[in-house]
Amino acid sequence: MEKLKYERPVIQKLNTGLMNKFGMSTENHPMRDIDGIPVKELIEKYGSPLFVLSEDKIRNKYRDLHTSFTVRYPKVQFAWSYKTNYLNAVCNIFHQEGSWAEVVSGYEYNKALLNGVPGEKIIFNGPDKSIDDLKLAVKNGSLIHIDHLDELYTLIELARNSERTPKVAIRVNMDTGVYPMWDRFGLNYENGQAWDAINKIMAVGTLNLVGLHTHIGTFMLSPNAYKVAATKLSELAIRIKQKFNKKIEYIDLGGGFPSQNNLKGAYLPGTDMVPPLEEYSEAIATALLNSPLNPQELPLLILETGRALIDHAGFLLGTVIANKRLNSGKRATILDVGVNILFTSFWYNHKVTPAQDFSDYREDMELFGPLCMNIDVIRESIQLPSLKKGDHVVVHNVGAYNMTQWMQFITLRPNIVLIDEDKNVHVIRESEHVEYINSMEKVPGHLKTFDLS
Ligand SMILES: *Cc1c(COP(=O)(O)O)cnc(C)c1O
Repeated sequence: MEKLKYERPVIQKLNTGLMNKFGMSTENHPMRDIDGIPVKELIEKYGSPLFVLSEDKIRNKYRDLHTSFTVRYPKVQFAWSYKTNYLNAVCNIFHQEGSWAEVVSGYEYNKALLNGVPGEKIIFNGPDKSIDDLKLAVKNGSLIHIDHLDELYTLIELARNSERTPKVAIRVNMDTGVYPMWDRFGLNYENGQAWDAINKIMAVGTLNLVGLHTHIGTFMLSPNAYKVAATKLSELAIRIKQKFNKKIEYIDLGGGFPSQNNLKGAYLPGTDMVPPLEEYSEAIATALLNSPLNPQELPLLILETGRALIDHAGFLLGTVIANKRLNSGKRATILDVGVNILFTSFWYNHKVTPAQDFSDYREDMELFGPLCMNIDVIRESIQLPSLKKGDHVVVHNVGAYNMTQWMQFITLRPNIVLIDEDKNVHVIRESEHVEYINSMEKVPGHLKTFDLS
């Protein structure tokens, strides 16, 4: 008997229009404009791909979140998380709204200073602060959040020869009931590391312990985790008051509130899955007010919210380069938007909407970027109407982390524009060009010439 030929099994997904594990198709209407400015016009003028930020959307979200805290707790201060998006125009919108700066490196610290943020309103987080960074931060009276004991000892030494008393807080990590627990930053609450560091700071007497800080994670879907965190930090503040009669000036609960992006692997889109931000302000304010903290001496509540304040305000416009059929028969659309500029596509299923009219026909397709690299996939599976070469798309919720984590890889980074509240469009970062990249390189003399003749 002749041996049967092997045929590779394939699973063909049936699309009946109902929800499947990739969620429901939400792209029912084209998105022709952003804040009233046509997508087509933006691309014609500023190129494709193009990042677009809406000042209106940034300010509105900030005001909503700020209000949701100030109606629940009397003393609230936001500090803009620079690493989330440190374009100067963006930082200055937050500073105009009243935000301080929250930085995690010497580079970000300098950026905040150059933007004009007063030293005392810069919160310096992160595990890597050089001696020079620390000296500058002490001199400027910035709030230094100690990450580990090595940093504490460096600061104690620095304080001996410094005119100003360093203002410090410790970063505390803890079990908030959400796992995996973030325990690599700061000092642990449960095992006593945090209390130990506090005792050491109080014992030397040359550092001013002004605050307690935690940043429990990112895209945290549990408001209750913040209640736990606020309770644990208040407990530390009360113990400090009891043992040293020292009032803690602020409790900083870090960032981590989710945006309405669609997490990979989640059954529901972010718009349905993410709790309203009021549940977070409610959880935090309740925990602080109901704690034994002296009501006459309530600490300032600091929040370092990043992604929840800016993700929704950023869009990435792109253009279809080509279409093809994969071996499986699945449609593939190649866009000029790659993972090098859309870093967050590794953990989000970004919503992608066509920017022009489309027919009722939908197909499950894969969206690729322009890189000559297998990993350059924007969406593994998405229900979209067919798109033609030259058609435009809008990628949603890209305001957080993409414009800081992007890579200059294979292609150059594109323009970023900001639409202001009067609908004026401003270029806030110019697209890169080959001379700019080359200006950073040096070719040794013996490598300057070659002869291929
Ligand atoms: C990244 C970071 C933030 C902002 O986090 P989001 O999850 O974007 O809100 C705040 N504080 C610290 C210390 C951070 O490292």
